[in-house]
Amino acid sequence: MFVTSPRGHPMLVIGSYKYCLHRGKSANLKKIWVCSRSGARKCRASVTTVEDQIVSSKNDHNHY
Ligand SMILES: [Zn+2]
Repeated sequence: MFVTSPRGHPMLVIGSYKYCLHRGKSANLKKIWVCSRSGARKCRASVTTVEDQIVSSKNDHNHY
């Protein structure tokens, strides 16, 4: 589900995991979301959405 963080940033929540919108090459409707722990824990999980529909996900989280 799509939520907005207290700071106003868009976030994607799937189960107990949160994803942040990856800034940079945001080709029109396609969005890349990276795990919110990608920085601190170097988690590589990510989700791709097109028009707010999940089209692919890589849920290899290295944490709980
Ligand atoms: Zn993760």
